[in-house]
Amino acid sequence: MDFTLSKAHRELQEKAKAFTEEVLFPYEMECEENNGISPETHAIINQKVMDWGFNATNHSKEHGGQGMTLFEQMLVSEQLGMATGAIWDAVPQPSYPMKFGTQAQIEEYLIPCCQNKRRDAYAITEADAGSDPTQCLTRADKCDGGYRINGEKWYVTVGNVADFLLVHAHVDGDPEKATVFFVEKDAPGVSIKRTPEFSHHFAFKHPEFTFKDVVVDESRILGKVGDGFNLTKDWFVEARLGIAARCVGGAQRVLNVANEFAAGRIMGGQPIREYQAIEHMLVDMTMDIMAAKSLLYRVCWEISGNISDRKLKHARAAAIKLYTSEMVGRVCDTGVQILGGRGYMRENPVERLWRDTRVDRIWEGTSEIQRNIIGGQIKKRGVEIYTGWDFEK
Ligand SMILES: Cc1cc2nc3c(=O)[nH]c(=O)nc-3n(C[C@H](O)[C@H](O)[C@H](O)COP(=O)(O)OP(=O)(O)OC[C@H]3O[C@@H](n4cnc5c(N)ncnc54)[C@H](O)[C@@H]3O)c2cc1C
Repeated sequence: MDFTLSKAHRELQEKAKAFTEEVLFPYEMECEENNGISPETHAIINQKVMDWGFNATNHSKEHGGQGMTLFEQMLVSEQLGMATGAIWDAVPQPSYPMKFGTQAQIEEYLIPCCQNKRRDAYAITEADAGSDPTQCLTRADKCDGGYRINGEKWYVTVGNVADFLLVHAHVDGDPEKATVFFVEKDAPGVSIKRTPEFSHHFAFKHPEFTFKDVVVDESRILGKVGDGFNLTKDWFVEARLGIAARCVGGAQRVLNVANEFAAGRIMGGQPIREYQAIEHMLVDMTMDIMAAKSLLYRVCWEISGNISDRKLKHARAAAIKLYTSEMVGRVCDTGVQILGGRGYMRENPVERLWRDTRVDRIWEGTSEIQRNIIGGQIKKRGVEIYTGWDFEK
């Protein structure tokens, strides 16, 4: 057994760390104070993403991406996750299912996204379809010229800057025919209904969209009619690993700040870390991160070519998404406590990460849904699927 990172992996990690600190950190306060970043800042970051070679880490070189393995993507995302205000989302990862598009779709959508010239947003959730997307009411009906889409989508992340959407709709209103359509944001009938505010100050917005008699050509279907859920299954693995990596990164930043603060903050004539109450908090944070990071690296290694069973990958991704998102919540909360009043100030990255990472227990499947997946796997395959140490090759 060898857990050593290769030289190439260490260099990638160092490069992603330098990128995060040099390119993203300077815009954190702009994002916090303005509840987002300006188009000018977005353009600057976009260019730097290209210059540093962090565009589309999740897509092949053939399509203009970086062609990184999931393990390499995780090394990058872990560092990006240290930035507050979700500025990591200004380093776009075009939606994974687009790689299953036709050659024409790849040329029109995926390649320009990989080159940071276009931006997609994925729209599944609705008012009455969250954890259970089979309840989607957005429908697509066959008409002259293709399909007519009607419905509403909620929380469409980056919907304010995206120029097209991947819309999950039910053909004929039938969940068995769940289908993903490429929809241009400026197509007649597409409108932003509302742009609600959330706890975090995020680089971009999560608007609600309305689709009223939006007609799309048949060639705008990704995959085929009925592929909607299958297309998103593999993507969930990638998206959940990304969340897990960022949670581990965010937690490490919080620990670093808290550790340094505890050494320098004098109360009652001594650094606060000399109080065992504080020292033990630092220990608990460190242990939490060590466990989460070990799990993250192991699972990403497995999924990067060391296990092939698709369901097992899904099961493992649920485990790290659940564990790391709950871990970062504990670590951030303790970090705020160690910093006292300063920990509650928005100008402090600990406070911002505390707010930012709360959503990681909600999006891409809530903690309860991850527990349902894990519970189902335990029931079917036994606890060894999680507690055993057999890597199926
Ligand atoms: C900031 C933000 C950005 C988002 N971005 C996007 C995006 O870009 N695209 C997109 O499509 N969606 C997006 N989402 C939506 C997100 O994926 C959903 O919020 C999430 O899936 C939960 O759905 P819901 O909010 O409707 O909660 P609900 O599904 O209504 O859940 C409410 C509560 O019930 C629990 N619950 C529900 N079902 C079960 C069950 N079977 N077993 C046990 N407990 C259950 C949940 O865990 C939760 O605690 C975003 C959400 C947020 C907050």
